[in-house]
Amino acid sequence: MNKDTAAPHSPAGELSAHTPMMQQYFGLKAGYPNTLLFYRMGDFYELFFADAEKAARLLDITLTQRGQSGGQPVVMAGVPFHSVDTYLARLIKLGESVAICEQVGDVATSKGPVERKVVRVVTPGTLTDSELLSDKTEAVLMAVHPGARTGCGLAWMSVTQGIVFLAQCASDELADWVARVNPGELLYSADSSTAFEKTVLALANPTNGQRLVAVLRPAWAFDAGLGQRKLLEQLQAASLAAWDAQDLTDAHAAASALLNYAEHTQGRALTHVKSLQVARSGELIDLPLNTRRNLELTQTLRGETSPTLLSLLDVCCTGMGSRALRSWLLEPRRDRAPARARLAAITTLRGGLWQGLRAALKGASDVERITARTALRQVKPRELVGLGQTLERAQQLARQLGSQEAGGLLDGIATHLTPPEGCAGLLRSALLAEPAALVRDGGVIADGFDPDLDELRAIQNNCDGFLIELEQRERARTGIANLRVQFNKVHGFYIEVTQGQASKVPDDYRRRQTLKNAERFITPELKAFEDKALSAQDRALAREKWLYEQLLDQLQAFVAPLTQLARAMAALDALCALSERSLTLNWNAPQFVPEPCIDIRGGRHPVVEARLNETSGGSFIANDTVLGPKQRMQVITGPNMGGKSTYMRQVAVIVLLASMGSFVPAAACRLGPIDAIHTRIGAADDLANAQSTFMLEMTEAAQILHAATPHSLVLMDEIGRGTSTFDGLALAGAIASHLHERNNAFTLFATHYFELTAFPAKHERAINVHVSAVETHTSGHCKAGDDIVFLHDIQPGPASRSYGVQVARLAGMPTSLVRQARAALEALESQQKSGQAQIDLFAPPAPVAAAEPSAVERALAQINPDALTPKQALDALYRLQAMQHPPESDTAP
Ligand code: ATP
Repeated sequence: MNKDTAAPHSPAGELSAHTPMMQQYFGLKAGYPNTLLFYRMGDFYELFFADAEKAARLLDITLTQRGQSGGQPVVMAGVPFHSVDTYLARLIKLGESVAICEQVGDVATSKGPVERKVVRVVTPGTLTDSELLSDKTEAVLMAVHPGARTGCGLAWMSVTQGIVFLAQCASDELADWVARVNPGELLYSADSSTAFEKTVLALANPTNGQRLVAVLRPAWAFDAGLGQRKLLEQLQAASLAAWDAQDLTDAHAAASALLNYAEHTQGRALTHVKSLQVARSGELIDLPLNTRRNLELTQTLRGETSPTLLSLLDVCCTGMGSRALRSWLLEPRRDRAPARARLAAITTLRGGLWQGLRAALKGASDVERITARTALRQVKPRELVGLGQTLERAQQLARQLGSQEAGGLLDGIATHLTPPEGCAGLLRSALLAEPAALVRDGGVIADGFDPDLDELRAIQNNCDGFLIELEQRERARTGIANLRVQFNKVHGFYIEVTQGQASKVPDDYRRRQTLKNAERFITPELKAFEDKALSAQDRALAREKWLYEQLLDQLQAFVAPLTQLARAMAALDALCALSERSLTLNWNAPQFVPEPCIDIRGGRHPVVEARLNETSGGSFIANDTVLGPKQRMQVITGPNMGGKSTYMRQVAVIVLLASMGSFVPAAACRLGPIDAIHTRIGAADDLANAQSTFMLEMTEAAQILHAATPHSLVLMDEIGRGTSTFDGLALAGAIASHLHERNNAFTLFATHYFELTAFPAKHERAINVHVSAVETHTSGHCKAGDDIVFLHDIQPGPASRSYGVQVARLAGMPTSLVRQARAALEALESQQKSGQAQIDLFAPPAPVAAAEPSAVERALAQINPDALTPKQALDALYRLQAMQHPPESDTAP
């Protein structure tokens, strides 16, 4: 959590007892108690007291003590300003936030310490600096607000993207939303209930594989009314009805905190944030965290970024394209329209356009981020030059697209790629082709853009020339042949005339200094030149800064169209990458159909195939998968290492690729509606959450059984392995039955329990398939020498055996051990054959047997009330009661 754990930052004793500079520091620090304060002093950013101790620990920088303030030694640590980005990057990675405090006053005219101000706060969820951000991923900020009833409001954004997203979800869906959006920071209210705070902190727990910082914000920041007003302000709209977002009160409260915090960190309004999107559960194909992990979409199981499905897909030329591709992959929509449009575009691009477009996209700047930084007035000169050049490329791309009958999505892209009128021209005329890195250093604004700057520069450049030219002119005017125009540091510029000639000087000469042999004069023209020349450099610098600010003002008008242009360019880049992939990797277009089915012919796992291509020259065996209304489940058996997991994952990956609008690694693919991909594959102990492998396995399976529908694809790999054979087998059978009977989901069920191959005989929508393998006998006598060759070929019917012993042999187990295992296996198999008849795993549970009547019930049955006198009836009642509750004395030992 973003709370200070180090020593307090407040001054010891009276504030007035401290030096003026430390008083200023404490004043600033009070506004940022939970954030490291980088206090600018000359060429360093200094940290003091607890901040210094923390930074010294985290950054491994030297902690020093300098003098005293208020009776306490000033503990400090500093980082040089020119390498600040390196330190910021390290701190952000550790989940820290940093308030950057600059000198804003004039050092020369300041009496006390020069005025300082926190200009922005760098936090993990609101990064905008190109140096701190990864090209290929967004830094995302999210706020969560629990509703009055059940459920939560969510709001999130990436400051560089400029879109606010709103959502409302059930409390138990929160973890999945957070995992999907993957924010760097999660804001929650200071008045949250303990239970809710616990939930938030659990989400920020690094053991769940995400780097997320939970940030406590004041309760007033989560105000629904304020949130709605802020959103309307950002969108410049009168109502949220157009987005169907007017009733999302809890999300408005979250948005209020979100925008407030984002503005607080950037130190200004976010004028470029002009888009709103409402995300509703049910719009996207559910890809729970386990699915994303198990399918290794963006990270391998070991946590690396390659080789993954995304690393295989992402051959984009720009960071914008990579980010678009990632979001298409992780957020596929149930509605097929966007995927259809992308597939149509890829089909067109594959016709040949893609190559030229990719050539033009290579080297393009990140227009999206540059535009956001322009709006935030943080943009650097070289970025703007890059933007100007990229706009020319965008024009070229629009022309290339326009030259063909592109149609559909590509037409829209071409329209938005046309740069806003005047923007490229303005950038070209305003900026030098190779400007300095920072405006602070000057050398940024182009010659010819501003006459005043040109003159100032001319003064600097032509000082000597002017003096020679003036000297010649004045000699001619005065007739004094030895007149000289000169300069010295003490007296500035002057015209020197020898004493003998002094009487010849014109009236406009003013005496400046009298020497023994000479008089020194100044003229109005020379005075004016002196004023200009002496401060030309300073003034040129100031003028450049001012002009740059003016340029930023002018560029604000282009922010909205540039944002659209960036999105178009990103989409085009992603589409071109998918086109390239489809051709290079030999993928084909999937076909969407309304009836429920997953019908894949010649499917391959693209990542395994790519690895095999690299290592063994390409030997991936393609397989068919046919699932439909009448055949919803495959029970998959076969040897370890046979390729069951690869086969199951490849089906999921193909379904996902099709759903995002990509071609697929298959000869053909027909796909019905899909609402979710669930996976239960493998397991690692989640020790941090105190869950055993088996508990985790069952929890994950339970989640799937609750969620899967007839439109879901479910992958179950080796369920039940974490417990004893009988428990596991019984549970696996029951889970398969539930998926088949209740969920009726498309299910791939890989198992080592041979008993489960009996499942399809009793369940009409299930079939057996197996991965084939052949045994080769290297020796007729020695069975331990049997070898196995995996064919990786999915065949109908159950596997004949599991080949566990052979795989153990392949793994290098000692021969004697393999022999012993083989003998034990044979004994077990013959025992089973001679044993009882097979137990029916799938028989419905027996009804609960009727209980024996109790003694009271028997006695009651013998009573005939009509034949009893009132006294006999009363006695019978006492007897019955005594039978039910025997008196103490009767039961005492
Ligand atoms: P286990 O039950 O031990 O998990 P498995 O049956 O799930 O094994 P996989 O992990 O899917 O087996 O595959 C093992 C290896 O076999 C893969 O790493 C891959 O190299 C190779 N393989 C799998 N499928 C194919 C295929 N269709 N074509 C070629 N090689 C394959």
